[in-house]
Amino acid sequence: MADILNVQVNEFMAKVIARNPNESEFHQAVQEVVESLMPFIEDNPKYKYGKILERMVEPERVISFRVPWVDDNGEIHVNRGYRIEMSSAIGPYKGGLRFHATVNLGILKFLAFEQVFKNSLTTLPMGGGKGGSDFDPKGKSDNEVMRFCQSFMTELSRHIGPNTDVPAGDIGVGGREIGYLFGQYKKLRNEFTGVLTGKAIEWGGSLIRPEATGYGAVYFAEEMLKTRNEGIKGKTTVISGSGNVAQYAAEKIIELGGKVVSFSDSSGYIYDKDGINSEKLQWVMDLKNIRRGRIKEYADKFGAQYVEGKRPWGIKCEIALPCATQNEINEEEAKELVKNGCFVVSEGANMPSTPEAVEVYLASRILFGPGKAANAGGVAVSGLEMTQNSMRLPWTRKEVDDRLHQIMTCIHETCVKFGKDSSGFINYVNGANIGGFIKVADSMLAQGIV
Ligand code: NDP
Repeated sequence: MADILNVQVNEFMAKVIARNPNESEFHQAVQEVVESLMPFIEDNPKYKYGKILERMVEPERVISFRVPWVDDNGEIHVNRGYRIEMSSAIGPYKGGLRFHATVNLGILKFLAFEQVFKNSLTTLPMGGGKGGSDFDPKGKSDNEVMRFCQSFMTELSRHIGPNTDVPAGDIGVGGREIGYLFGQYKKLRNEFTGVLTGKAIEWGGSLIRPEATGYGAVYFAEEMLKTRNEGIKGKTTVISGSGNVAQYAAEKIIELGGKVVSFSDSSGYIYDKDGINSEKLQWVMDLKNIRRGRIKEYADKFGAQYVEGKRPWGIKCEIALPCATQNEINEEEAKELVKNGCFVVSEGANMPSTPEAVEVYLASRILFGPGKAANAGGVAVSGLEMTQNSMRLPWTRKEVDDRLHQIMTCIHETCVKFGKDSSGFINYVNGANIGGFIKVADSMLAQGIV
């Protein structure tokens, strides 16, 4: 049986690769999902005959556009903008915008594909999408970022809307960028609507949205630890990245009594063996969100170790929270983590572990929460922001945090339900893929061939 399933996975993937050449990250994301789903679909032939998987790997719509803008010296630049509208089976397209030099169609398709399953897992009515540009905000002035955002939204505004497609932030798109994008949408459309999430609290945002992805990844780690009667308290935690997700993951770990010892950016990582406490974290937030500096400055300021051009996975820890970018933990690094006693990996970033690294986690039977489950807290609170915008009523911090916590617990339960094998081991990869799939697949069957 396993052999037949392998052949089916290989045949399916051969078609995906042929139809989507040069999109390696998209192939990687699809392969992982298809490997989880093939046995489930064999047992539930309505999905096979409905060609659900074949339909899900084809975006409903791909939009690609020119984004011209003028820098502070009067020079004209041209970037490329995208929006991938992957699935609207269970709600409006929903997913972030990424501004980073590495952005291309394949990366955004992988992110949009993952988003479909993630959004379904949240229990909220959101379809899946993703977008962005190869524009890099690093080193640009505020005015340059504003002009870029205005040009980007001038085109994007034709395709989105509060009931159609609701983008949010991702790498390189934080509160500043969402502000400029929202301002331009409002001006073009002459309407104040919840067309973007991640807005500031004064103009339609939700409390806890900035914190949500990082907090959620820690809540998920906590749920995984509970299955082994353990907790966060006293555990050493290695975090990569130093942006939105990394900062709030660190804040929650510190609050729960864990010890955070690292941050990184694309230049290198810092290792603070004494632990990054709340005061040091505040300093990092100021460095990254206001002064927009490099993480190396932390080592200069606090006398910690700085390692140029490397990632922090060689540091001894019990918990690892990758919160930077895709494929940032390879097989060797995963082995190093496990060898050093790490037994919890909760992915704040999207697909930060390579397939070989995931194999290492599963073979070692550690607690591994894949991104589409572990980092779903961000989009979940985006969903709650949409609800508040529709009601025109803001919820308190506690109310939103309680709902976030409840959603993360619920996602964990779904993963256990669909991921627990006969030996009692919880394969969260299978659990998240099957748990996320069912609602979308059933909705597609109910809505006919569209
Ligand atoms: P930010 O832009 O705030 O921070 C990204 C961090 O990752 C920065 O420290 C950045 O360093 C580092 N980084 C980015 N690209 C690379 C790279 N190629 N190599 C090494 N380091 C890199 O983004 P977020 O914190 O919002 O996003 C981080 C991850 O979390 C992404 O995978 C994103 O998709 C995922 N995510 C984010 C959500 C959100 O709500 N924001 C929701 C769910 C998932 P540098 O500044 O040097 O580039």
